[in-house]
Amino acid sequence: MLTIHKADLQRVFEHALAGYPNEACGMLAGKNGKVEKIYAMRNAKPGPDYYEMDAEEQFRVMKDIRDSGLDMIGLFHSHPTGRAYPSSVDVEQAYWPGTQLPNYPDAVYVIVSLMDRGNPVARGFSIEEGKVTEVPLSVI
Ligand SMILES: [Zn+2]
Repeated sequence: MLTIHKADLQRVFEHALAGYPNEACGMLAGKNGKVEKIYAMRNAKPGPDYYEMDAEEQFRVMKDIRDSGLDMIGLFHSHPTGRAYPSSVDVEQAYWPGTQLPNYPDAVYVIVSLMDRGNPVARGFSIEEGKVTEVPLSVI
């Protein structure tokens, strides 16, 4: 389970909507499965079905998370026209290229669907050994 404050989830939705019709992305920092801080980030290669975090920004964010005494517990990105479920590309990108070594072994992948832009939907998943398992989001 991943716990997130309603206001933080709202910010995730706003970032996703701001990036429309392209995908938007960011990171979730917190402790023990509870999100404490949202990082709305730049999509370095924006496309309607693609995102890539900017390497330098990612480095800065990771440093800020460590300096705040938090852990990087999740990543989020939007699917502007798709459902809130990891695509085959998302599963592939959870690993270092050509390996089964996860980039972020304990991270929850939060995917926001904008199929209904007036009513975005977020769902969380873990991607382990190429297998997708839902991680329920608890919005508080
Ligand atoms: Zn995706």
